[in-house]
Amino acid sequence: MQAPRPSLAHPTAPLADRPSQSLGTRLVLVTLGFCFVFTLLTVGVRTYSAWNEAWSAMDADLTLLEQVYRQTLSKAIWEMDRDSLHTHVESTAQVAVVGHITLKLHSKNRAPEVFERSAQGWQPSTLAPTRRLDLVYQPFPGGTESVGELTLMGDERVLWARLRGEVRNIVITQLLQSLLLAGLIMLMFSRTVTVHVKHIAQHLGQLTPDTMRQTLHLVRDPRHRDELTLLESGVNQLQGKLADHLAQLGRYEKELGAHRDHLARLVQERTAELESLTEAQQLVLGLSNRLIHAPHESFDACQQACVAEVAQRLGANHALWLVPDKDHNVFRLFYDWRPEGADTAVLGPVPADTMTHVPARLAREELLFFFSQAEMGRSLSPQEAALFSSQPVGACALALLHSDGEDFGVLFVGKPLGQGEWPPEDRALLAMTAQLLLHSVRHKSQLISILATQEALRAANRQLEVLSRHDPLTGLSNRRHFDEIKEDEFQRALRSGKPLSLLICDIDYFKAFNDHYGHATGDQCLRAVADAMNAAIARSGDVLARIGGEEFAILLPATSETAALQVAERVRLAVAELHIAHEASKASPTVTISIGVAQLRFGRITHFDALFEAADQALYRAKESGRNRVESSVASAPHSAT
Ligand code: GH3
Ligand code: MG
Ligand code: MG
Repeated sequence: MQAPRPSLAHPTAPLADRPSQSLGTRLVLVTLGFCFVFTLLTVGVRTYSAWNEAWSAMDADLTLLEQVYRQTLSKAIWEMDRDSLHTHVESTAQVAVVGHITLKLHSKNRAPEVFERSAQGWQPSTLAPTRRLDLVYQPFPGGTESVGELTLMGDERVLWARLRGEVRNIVITQLLQSLLLAGLIMLMFSRTVTVHVKHIAQHLGQLTPDTMRQTLHLVRDPRHRDELTLLESGVNQLQGKLADHLAQLGRYEKELGAHRDHLARLVQERTAELESLTEAQQLVLGLSNRLIHAPHESFDACQQACVAEVAQRLGANHALWLVPDKDHNVFRLFYDWRPEGADTAVLGPVPADTMTHVPARLAREELLFFFSQAEMGRSLSPQEAALFSSQPVGACALALLHSDGEDFGVLFVGKPLGQGEWPPEDRALLAMTAQLLLHSVRHKSQLISILATQEALRAANRQLEVLSRHDPLTGLSNRRHFDEIKEDEFQRALRSGKPLSLLICDIDYFKAFNDHYGHATGDQCLRAVADAMNAAIARSGDVLARIGGEEFAILLPATSETAALQVAERVRLAVAELHIAHEASKASPTVTISIGVAQLRFGRITHFDALFEAADQALYRAKESGRNRVESSVASAPHSAT
């Protein structure tokens, strides 16, 4: 997995990178430009000098003419030889350099006479030289006479003609010089520099990382030690450094590639591990949910199913779950899982004192992993090893279900022979399973304890219910219960129109009984009277309640007054027949009761209290009439429900 190495070569360099003009051409152009400027300067300087030379030559020519004609013209003027003067002036004017000639004759008492002559097309000029000469004649030795004045003016056109010729020569010479020089420079440059620069460019252009070690060699005289030599060695040094750098880069790339591959393998392994772990977590989560929602009757089966599922997921061929039985000091087999079709073995209770190594080691390490049955055998006691070797296994593991100093069992898982590995995900799954089972065991014991508590609570509630509605002394319904029932029965009687009778019974002279026999005997008497009254009521719908200290009410649904009176009489007799001695009674030597009877009369009684009131009044009358008797009182209901 190596990245492509960078290429240094550009076989198809873009057009913009290619030279549009060679160095030699540029050098020639620059040289020509310089020569042009140089020529201009030279022409300027030399023209100036040529002009001066031409001007000096013209001036010399004019001076010569002056010298030539001085004597002749002076003599001719003195002698007044006009023809000769004309001839001389004409001949002088014929000289090429003379543009204009003026001869002024001095004369006494007369205006000077002037002879003038100009070259054809002559124009006055300030540039051409002008010579002025006084003409002097010597008529005799020692005597001088000024006879006239000669003015010679040069012809400017002659100066310009000379100058043009000169400039042409200079320009031609300079141009030839410049061209020759440029050509020479170009030739020399091309032979000594351009060819080598092209070679260097071609060499560099063909360089690749593989040819980086090929050195540059310029074909030229080895005696030449100049800038090209420096460039050549510089390029070779640079290539050497680049080659070293590329080699280093290559080594780094290889190392990086190896690291990358290693990392990729690690990532792959970790990803696979994580996926397995996630699967294991999901499995354990699912099992945990099943256990949480398992009904307590099938909790054991659910736990065993969890162990079976984990064993299958681990690819195991044997799983055992032993639980301690502290009462008998043994470990009992809670679950023995083997794949379908495998041989089964019957494992009886294992004495706890033979299980020595496993709990001790597991207490320290929680989970024990072995890579073979033999290795496990060396770590455990012979009895333990025999216990977990009932099936031939390869890699195997033991987990202690232990929490808060209490052991809840030992889990054993064995893989088939030939499988001797415990990959991290399997270890994690087993650890999670051990935790899950431990929690499930604790959950189970909590569940059992909660169920027991619930049952105890229900029993207590039932008891409370009974207590809250019954009189603790006699066991009869109490006032509260009676009040609940009386309303129901009253409404039912109103709806059905069936008669409802009420008996109120009161023990005669009971205060005196208490005073005479003591309160405890009074209680015994109350219990006996209650039992007797209860026994005297035949129908299951009848309700007997203790509604006060020694007062009882008997509600008789669907019972007419006549029948009620019969029941009352039966009750009174039942008490009397107890024959409980009552020496303090003025009514009888034994304990007796008085009973007031009332029946619901439709149309007159609108609520139960009226019925109660009627019965109470009847009781009052019974008391008034001597006690130990039954009295009735007629009460009417406002309407009949029937
Ligand atoms: P009468 O024939 O007019 O009914 O006379 P009496 O003495 O029975 O009447 P009274 O209602 O005055 O007395 C009731 C007595 O019942 C008062 C009390 O000492 C007694 N008593 C009430 N509840 C209990 C109880 O739970 N146990 C015992 N031993 N005595 C009770
Ligand atoms: Mg009373
Ligand atoms: Mg009484």
